[in-house]
Amino acid sequence: MAKIGVLALQGAVKEHIQQIETLGHDAVAVKTCDDLRGVDGLILPGGESTTIGKMLERNDMVEPIKTLAQQGVPMFGTCAGLILLAKNIKNSNPPHLGLMELEVERNSFGRQIDSFEVPLSIPSIGDEITAVFIRAPHIVSVGEHVEILATYEERIVLARDGQFLGCSFHPELTDDVRILEYFIGMVNEFIKVSR
Ligand code: GLN
Repeated sequence: MAKIGVLALQGAVKEHIQQIETLGHDAVAVKTCDDLRGVDGLILPGGESTTIGKMLERNDMVEPIKTLAQQGVPMFGTCAGLILLAKNIKNSNPPHLGLMELEVERNSFGRQIDSFEVPLSIPSIGDEITAVFIRAPHIVSVGEHVEILATYEERIVLARDGQFLGCSFHPELTDDVRILEYFIGMVNEFIKVSR
């Protein structure tokens, strides 16, 4: 059983926790640095990236999360969480973690209020995966070691950079746990080599 932390400062936290528990793993709501202790993986949820970034700084959590990353702990960012993980955010530089070798653009699908659902085919994960986009970012460009896992309308919406996985949409708002299972596969690999 893996212990997966879900950053719980703001946003869609309980949905991730429920999905993790559905798969039989241990989920921890991470509100402070102490909550990071012993996690085998960390999920950064959707919400408002500027708010979460400011709270990360205020709670002195930026460096501790970067230290976990240096130890190889897998991290998965969904929507605002992807923005927090990205090295670059197009046209702005709010507080964020900057761990994934890619650039994102915020609110890049339609108008601010837009949200929509589409079935995505993701070759390394499965077909007909429902992707819920809510004021979603997309990945504008990626570093040379980053694997592009899914695109929608020619925009990159799911990518993996070694121990980091980031997606534009919200897998936790559906009953489909295949993307989370993929992430837990990454976590289990980490546990095997490090624990
Ligand atoms: N638009 C939000 C941001 O820029 C992300 C939206 C979401 O997480 N659903 O942070």
